[in-house]
Amino acid sequence: MLGKILDKSSCAKCRVCCGFVEDDKWEIPLIFTELRSAVEQKLGVKLIPRGNEFVFDMKFDGDKLVYCPAVSENGCTLGELKPFDCMIWPFRVNQLGERRVITVSPVCEAVIDLPLSRITEFVNTDGFAERLFEESRKHPDMVKPYIDGYPIIKAENVN
Ligand code: SF4
Repeated sequence: MLGKILDKSSCAKCRVCCGFVEDDKWEIPLIFTELRSAVEQKLGVKLIPRGNEFVFDMKFDGDKLVYCPAVSENGCTLGELKPFDCMIWPFRVNQLGERRVITVSPVCEAVIDLPLSRITEFVNTDGFAERLFEESRKHPDMVKPYIDGYPIIKAENVN
């Protein structure tokens, strides 16, 4: 989904979004219920519930980096089963008061270093923002609280 601003080879080399420490386990990708069985079968793992969806059952030890069980040296092994959270990262839908906003994580250097105008243009073309808001309505567990300082690229209209 992000091919216009991120190339797959740099993602495969970086993999910063596929490793987690205890404090950021809230960022473990959400696996929508309809993908649960296929992901479990493909990886031979058991997913655990989070809200109405599922996540990988990962054990943490403070600041020790733990990689997602789907990652390989060449990047994600899930192909078409890749979680929506991962397809859109470093973008997120966050709750900010009454509104939902699309933010961009500063952790992804490849995207955050782009001119803001390019990031904004990307979010606002080809229905990207609409797709994020639509998925967040269908899967509200993917909406995370807003983190202070994260650039807000777009806010959902509230009627
Ligand atoms: S599902 Fe794939 S892209 Fe997402 S964190 Fe795991 S390895 Fe990375």
